Amino acid sequence: PNEFLNSLPTTIFTTMSQLAVAHDAVNLGQGFPDTEGPASLIEAAAAALKDGRNQYAPLTGLPELREAVARANNRDYGLTVDPACEVIVTSGATEALAVSLMALIEPGDEVVLIEPLYDTYLPVLKMLGAIPRCVRVEAPNWHLPEDALRAAFSDKTKLILLNSPMNPSGKVFTAQELDLIASLVLQHDCYAVCDEVYEHLTFGVKHVPLMTRPGMRERAIRIGSAGKSFSVTGWKIGYITACPALASVIAKAHQIIAFSSAPNLQRAVATGLDLGDDFFTDLSDSLRARRDLFAEGLHALGFPTLPADGSYFVVADISAHAKGRDDMAFCRDLVTDAGVAAIPVSAFYDPHGAPPPRHLIRFAFCKTEPVLREALRRLTLHF
Ligand code: PMP
Ligand code: GLN
Repeated sequence: PNEFLNSLPTTIFTTMSQLAVAHDAVNLGQGFPDTEGPASLIEAAAAALKDGRNQYAPLTGLPELREAVARANNRDYGLTVDPACEVIVTSGATEALAVSLMALIEPGDEVVLIEPLYDTYLPVLKMLGAIPRCVRVEAPNWHLPEDALRAAFSDKTKLILLNSPMNPSGKVFTAQELDLIASLVLQHDCYAVCDEVYEHLTFGVKHVPLMTRPGMRERAIRIGSAGKSFSVTGWKIGYITACPALASVIAKAHQIIAFSSAPNLQRAVATGLDLGDDFFTDLSDSLRARRDLFAEGLHALGFPTLPADGSYFVVADISAHAKGRDDMAFCRDLVTDAGVAAIPVSAFYDPHGAPPPRHLIRFAFCKTEPVLREALRRLTLHF
């Protein structure tokens, strides 16, 4: 078998979820909500199943979903998108990321990434023969160092992979940071693959797609996820927005990887995208309240939290309680001894890069209030 894949460890999310089940822990590790998505979406999906929407969808997605993605791009960000040739529906953002990278990369190309980063990025790049150039946003403020970012770009750079709002840090890139990135993309005549799965989950700040910045309409590939936008992570419906020249190549990659995605779920997601502003405002308000509840509880227990303006996640500093343990050992003990699962942040760094921080752990706060209170109760008993 392929040596790299054969030796790739099982993802930390699966490892920690299995430990959480084994120890009957409150699972604040893997990022998934513990509630169902909106009733109207579930009903639309069930109706579509009964309605005979059970054979292959068109390669680039059901027309009604592509049209809804185009409308949402316009309503939310003022982008004008042609649903016929600029939208591709995929099996989750995970597939969207892989096919976007496949569409652009030739072996030996360099890719700029920002650490801490989501755990599928580096393995996919490795399989494609790309060379990663990682830049770090540093705790405690997740500041993006301009000099290091500039230095990561070269005449071999094919693209930057940008995740905003960012997992695991919760950082939402500012307009100024996006303009810097856009200027580097233009200067080096390259592309940007933008993982925007948490686009609607921001707290007090607005998400700005890189695609809306000057010069980026033809160079940015924008990726969204119904799993995150509608709290249905198991559905695995993602959507890509890109200019026709890029979308047509991405469609070829999608053709050989998945070809199409569940038509009944696509139809339901189309109705979800039309729910509009009020729905997303309620979702982000509710998540913000839960972030505040949980972060304040952590502070009171001696775990300072880092700023998290978006996503499902908040990162906490374990230094005061670590007693010599690194973040991985701490998370293992936390599951077994306190009955709460979290994710060590060192898992979000290139294993072949400089040593990662070892004093940070990530909690998912996308859980109901009683569940978060129970986690805090357990932590209070333990610390
Ligand atoms: N990108 C990021 C940053 C994520 O956190 C996740 C995980 N939820 C994904 C992509 C994958 O999204 P999906 O479940 O739609 O494949
Ligand atoms: N994105 C989720 C997280 O960061 C995990 C998804 C997965 O397990 N593949 O927790």
